[in-house]
This record gives sequence, C-alpha cells and structure tokens, in this order.
Amino acid sequence: LGSSLRGTMDKLRGKSRLDEEDVQEIVKEIQRSLLQADVEVDLVMDLSSNIEERALNEEPPGGTSARDHILKIVYEEMVEVVGDSTEIPLEPQTIMLAGLQGSGKTTTAAKMAWWFSTKGLRPAVIQTDTFRPGAYEQAKQMCENAEVQFYGDPDAEDPVQIARDGMEATEDADIRIVDTAGRHALEADLIEEIEEIERAVAPDRNLLVLDAAIGQGAKAQAREFDSAVGVDGVAITKLDGTAKGGGALTAVNETDSSIAFLGTGETVQDIERFEPNGFISRLLGMGDLKQLSERVERAMEETGEDDDWEPEDMLQGSFTLKDMQRQMDAMNKMGPLDQVMDMIPGMGGGLMDQLPDDAMDVTQDRMRNFEVIMDSMTDEELEDPRSIGASQVQRIARGSGTEEETVQELLQQHKMMDQTLSQFQGMGDGDMQRMMKK
Ligand code: GDP
Ligand code: MG
Repeated sequence: LGSSLRGTMDKLRGKSRLDEEDVQEIVKEIQRSLLQADVEVDLVMDLSSNIEERALNEEPPGGTSARDHILKIVYEEMVEVVGDSTEIPLEPQTIMLAGLQGSGKTTTAAKMAWWFSTKGLRPAVIQTDTFRPGAYEQAKQMCENAEVQFYGDPDAEDPVQIARDGMEATEDADIRIVDTAGRHALEADLIEEIEEIERAVAPDRNLLVLDAAIGQGAKAQAREFDSAVGVDGVAITKLDGTAKGGGALTAVNETDSSIAFLGTGETVQDIERFEPNGFISRLLGMGDLKQLSERVERAMEETGEDDDWEPEDMLQGSFTLKDMQRQMDAMNKMGPLDQVMDMIPGMGGGLMDQLPDDAMDVTQDRMRNFEVIMDSMTDEELEDPRSIGASQVQRIARGSGTEEETVQELLQQHKMMDQTLSQFQGMGDGDMQRMMKK
C-alpha cells in the first residue's frame, strides 16, 4: 500500500499546483498507509486534515514541485506527532521497563544494557519477574550474551523485595535497568506490583515496552501504565517483522511522551535509538522524506532573495534569460539535473513529452557553461535577449571565456523554451492542468 502512495505521488511529477482532487487522493493514500500501520483512527484523521489544509493553502516555494512540497508538508506533520526521540542522557540513572507479557521487556532490558555498555557505561539489569516461569534464566542468559551485570533471585517470591535487593547489589553500576513482570491483561495486581516496584527503585525514567503489532490496543495500555507510574518514553519491539509500529504513536500521543528505542531482532545487539525520519518513512512506505524535506528547505532559503519571482511569472509575461538563469540556479541547488527536471514547475511529467526533443536538453556541462555566459551579460541583455546582436555575442564569449557558438546555443535554447512557454500563456489553471494530464 505504501507503494500506492508513492504511485500517487509520482503521478504528480511536474505539476506546479495541486488541485483539490489531487490533494484528496494523496490524503486518502496517506490515511490508508497509516491505518494499515496500526495508527489510531482519530490520530490519522487529525493528521490528514492538517495535511490537506496545508497542501491546499500553502504555495510551493519557487523551484519546488507541488509533489515535493506536499511531501515536505506530510513529513513535517508526521514529525509533529511522532516527535523526537526520548532524551536518554549518558549518565548514571535507573530505568524501569513496563509492559504486557511478551511485549519484549526482558529482551529490551538486555539490549538496552548492551547499548549503554557500547557508550562506555556500566549497566546492570535487575530482573523482578517472579511470575513467568523461566524468566530468571532467560534474563540471566541474555545478560551474559550482552556481557553486562545481572541481578535476580530465582527463589524469591516478592518482586518488590528483589527490586530493593537488586538496587543494593548493583551499586557499582552506572545504569540500572529494572525489568518487571507482565501479565496477559492489565490486571489490578500487576499495576499495583509495578507501582510498588517504582516506589522501591525510584527510577529516573520509565519506558513502556510495546510490541510493534500492538495496534489499537495501545491506547488503553498506555493510559493504564501512565496513570500508574508515568510513561516517559516508549520502546517498540519486533520491528524486524511485518508490523510497522503505528500503535506506538497512539501510546506516545496518549502519554505525551516520545519513542526511545526500537527493537529489530532477537539478539542483544538488535537495538537502535529511535530516529523519526526512518520511522516515518517506514510508516508511509516512502523513501527518505527527511532528505527531501531538507532539500526543499534549502532551495527555499537560497531563492529567498528572489522573493518577488514566482515560477508562474514565466507563463504571464515574457520568459527572459533572467528567468532561465533563476531556473538553472534553483535546479543547481536541488541536486542532479535528471532528478530535478520534474521540479521545474510546468516542465516535468507529461508536459516534457510534448516538447521538441531537445528543447529541455540542458546537460549539466552545458548548464555550467550557460551560467558563466549569463554572468557576462548585462542586466539589460538578460531582461531582453533580443537586444543581443553579433557584437554582443562576441563580447560575451570573450568575457566568459567560452566560444561564440556556445553563446549562440544558449540563446537558441532560451528561444526554444520561450516559444514552448508562450504556447501556454493566457491559459487558465484548468487548461494547464488538462494539458499536463495528457
Ligand atoms: P517480556 O515478556 O515482555 O519480557 O518479553 P520477552 O523479552 O520475553 O520477549 C518475548 C518474545 O519476543 C521473545 O521470544 C523474544 O525473543 C521476542 N522478541 C523481543 N524483542 C524482539 C524483537 O525486537 N524482534 C524479534 N524478532 N523478537 C523479539
Ligand atoms: Mg520478561
């Protein structure tokens, strides 16, 4: 399904503006992707209405295609919900893990301990689960694999006492990770137990451990644990499977917290610090949105000095060499030519096919030459290319250290673009859209 969002986006290549229908189609695909990734319905609706409103009301900045612009909006709105990763200072602290049975607490405890050890800290895991048979052995084994200190007591029956003893026994450790028991459901005695452990160990932060496949059940769980002990962050496990972990967004939203760690496998090294970009891209089934977003941002900043210039102006008055220069400028800042062809408003996608074969054939080398040449032109020449006669061509070639032939090529190129654009002049937006859809 993610690929169908990509498909919808790709259909927009080359469009300078999106009409309502385009936006609705995109929003629908985003909704579908997010719901399929287990993001809660209300959250999906909020997100998509924000995206829709911005996409319809905000103008794409000069040099940016409508497609990239909406992708940037999507990314920004997603970041708003997903948030940055939970702050985990690399200093002595106690972290308690909470969550349902099987969510991955014990595994995550050992993984986190391993992670802290790679940061040069001395972690210890305290296992307080007296409920699950084999919990002690499992935790001990994983801590051996992680080569970190472990405390547990297979014979003790009171988890709170184990927690207290464990805190004492691990005094030398920098990081204490307290693993707790989970039950099948949210039973009152489980909540009570974890509250007591919390009082006994006074953790600096509590992380809620959630299986990526949790789905809509995340809300009730997050709420329960948050009101019992307070949730400072979420660890999502089993992201190596097919589940995308959208339920974590519900939890983060519900507890006003953020995501701290991602579990991506069964060994102690299969842990990553959460990073919004990858997670969002995965949720939407899209490529690297952050990179794109930053590229658009940069282009916006760098063309900022040209505030009064709008790409659409090319379709109103005459298309001057200055316009061409600005276009090439914007293209330069946005990346390799073949990737940005479709960013030139009105120049990508279907429209490209209608142009004479070499009308847009400005290769990177030629472009570099053209830039140098245009730098040697006067403002008047740039505004009115028809004023450039043979003697001017000679002067410009000499000034720019290029051949007269290349200067002529530039003028030829400009003429072709001008002619192409003039075909579209005087058309309403609707006509433009129709032409592009052909
Ligand atoms: P707990 O009951 O919350 O302590 O959960 P466990 O840590 O015992 O994990 C339950 C099961 O999920 C175990 O079989 C783990 O190996 C498995 N598991 C935990 N985290 C991950 C993960 O990130 N990826 C995969 N594939 N399996 C995981
Ligand atoms: Mg466990």
